[in-house]
Amino acid sequence: VTAPVAVGVDVGGTKLLALAVDADGEVVGRQRLTTPRADADALVEALVEAASELASGVPVGVGVAGIVTREGDLRYAPNLQLQDVALGRRLEDELGVRAAVRNDVTVALHGEWQVGAGRGSDDVVMVTLGTGVGGAVVADGRLIEGAHGLGGEIGHIPVRDGGRPCPCGNRGCLEAYASGTAVAALARERLEDGDEHSALRELDEIDGKAVTLAAIDDDPLALEVLRESGYWLGVGLVALVNIFDPEVVLIGGGAATLSAPIVLPEAEGIVAERILGADHRDPPPVRRAALGDDAGAIGAALLARDLAGA
Ligand SMILES: [Zn+2]
Repeated sequence: VTAPVAVGVDVGGTKLLALAVDADGEVVGRQRLTTPRADADALVEALVEAASELASGVPVGVGVAGIVTREGDLRYAPNLQLQDVALGRRLEDELGVRAAVRNDVTVALHGEWQVGAGRGSDDVVMVTLGTGVGGAVVADGRLIEGAHGLGGEIGHIPVRDGGRPCPCGNRGCLEAYASGTAVAALARERLEDGDEHSALRELDEIDGKAVTLAAIDDDPLALEVLRESGYWLGVGLVALVNIFDPEVVLIGGGAATLSAPIVLPEAEGIVAERILGADHRDPPPVRRAALGDDAGAIGAALLARDLAGA
């Protein structure tokens, strides 16, 4: 086993995944802890514990779902019930090493860009489909962070004026059509509105995974719902592709694990048809991300290493 050059931690709503990586971005150590919630001190303690178990004296990167500034200040993390925590500075004080704290999708894209499905490209857009819809952008060889760390948040691009309500408070956001939560809601609405036959009627609870499994089984209603979701994903991507002109669009996140073969071709078709100059250029492929659940932790580690100049 080669020596770790950095540690990265992906702070999920329930679990915290810490990975040590070597100079090639290969995983050389792994730790899992339960994520403490609503307690900043306990979170810092858990991060210090996880990092110290894996390596000492190397930079530490952290990815958190929420608003994180490039200074590493956690402004708002609803899943963790935390706000206004100077996480980067506190980790540097406790560990005595450089720390980089960023949004979870930002670090996941950094990982995919450096060692995953976006490797070798200077222009990559990434979208994650999960409970919500996240996004991040590499443009002209730089990770776009924006003024508040919110650059590339495709989930809240409006795709349909006056459309479905979104958890962010607006209507018609992409997230309201393309998240796992939205897929389940779309299916429930169709079942209530009509009497079309569907295997989903037999289930007590319908979540995004149940809809996807039914669609894979050729359930017509479930298939229509996933294709609709893919359609709106495509509409959102047209906006991002027109702004950033990426070489490739990567789709990550748990909700896409099974649904990708149905949703991605649908989205890719809309992109190919509607982007500016569609007749005079190649459309970017819409492709699955490669690093799976490890993307965030690997990317956080590599970002911390890169920012520390190691
Ligand atoms: Zn929204």
